[in-house]
Amino acid sequence: MLLDTLQRPVKDLRISVTDRCNFRCTYCMPLDNYDWLDKSEVLTFEEITRLARLFIQLGVEKIRLTGGEPLARRDLEQLVKSLSGLDGLRDLCLTTNGSTLAEKAQALKAAGLRRLNVSLDSLKPDRFRRITKRGDLQKVLHGLFVAKEHGFSPIKLNAVIERGVNDDEIIDLVTFSLEHGFAIRFIEFMDVGNANHWQSDTIVPKQEILDIINTRFPLREVGRKGGSAPSVDYQCVDGSGDIGVIASVTEPFCSSCTRARLTADGRLVTCLFANTGHNLKVLLRGGASDDRLLDVLQQVWLQRTDRYSEERLAALRSGAGYDPKEHKKIEMISLGG
Ligand code: SAM
Ligand code: SF4
Ligand code: SF4
Repeated sequence: MLLDTLQRPVKDLRISVTDRCNFRCTYCMPLDNYDWLDKSEVLTFEEITRLARLFIQLGVEKIRLTGGEPLARRDLEQLVKSLSGLDGLRDLCLTTNGSTLAEKAQALKAAGLRRLNVSLDSLKPDRFRRITKRGDLQKVLHGLFVAKEHGFSPIKLNAVIERGVNDDEIIDLVTFSLEHGFAIRFIEFMDVGNANHWQSDTIVPKQEILDIINTRFPLREVGRKGGSAPSVDYQCVDGSGDIGVIASVTEPFCSSCTRARLTADGRLVTCLFANTGHNLKVLLRGGASDDRLLDVLQQVWLQRTDRYSEERLAALRSGAGYDPKEHKKIEMISLGG
């Protein structure tokens, strides 16, 4: 089995299919102007599928399509179709802001996609617009219900909780998820990229999120799916619901991190907080054989040492302080969440 320097296998591949997005979420990509990739720089569906097949040979079982906004990539269902047919792939999913899901759900389902994550940070239209800067809550909710009608299961809501922004909606979001049969994952606000205004006191720690939920919906812990999922999951004590918290800041899970990331322009990145990646596109377009590509993928993974969130927590606890601006990172919109 292929293991990195910390004995972690590669099991998950997150593929960013575009760096474009129609939202400008304040916690992710608040900038109006950005140095967007030229179309010619973006991997084709054939290139992505070829790399995905090679990653599966190395142990990848699960692929998540992300971005940017993956549904902004034209004809995405064609990629879904190619990937869903790959031997050895056990799970294919997509993370979307949901804004065009209503129009695309049927084609995605027909192409073989079974499950979805949809970002939803607020149920208040004005606040939703403030957070996303461009989003229309009604369109996202409509997309969710259309996806549900088409039989996607599970549909998971992702909510980034920020102090003073939407921490008063935790109970409402859980209530909404329970009422409509959606799973929900609360995500601690992270210092991804360089453009958000992260400070350690703007995060709402996992324990505080759980304490709030427990006041109304007493929970029991189910644990991390497969032992290595980012989310610690819970159910209501009556067995209903699927509620999780992704505590990257306060309870980092680097020791079980089996995720590789492929940027839209074909860089292999081994950590969400990396400042650089390995350029696979130049190999793909330079005529490299599968064996050569496999060799490079293996070398990159064998040398992987990443444990950024554990290091961040150690710095936060040491009293020496942690300034995210001292660490230049690839933007989340390029990297994929
Ligand atoms: N555009 C799609 C979406 O919003 O779902 C997919 C890409 S987005 C980068 C993937 C996930 O990253 C989203 O669920 C988003 O909420 C999350 N995310 C972005 N910035 C974050 C941050 N600073 N902290 C925590 N999660 C973040
Ligand atoms: Fe928001 Fe997703 Fe776009 Fe980032 S990529 S700005 S999280 S919609
Ligand atoms: Fe994985 Fe990096 Fe996140 Fe740690 S900080 S869990 S190594 S992506």
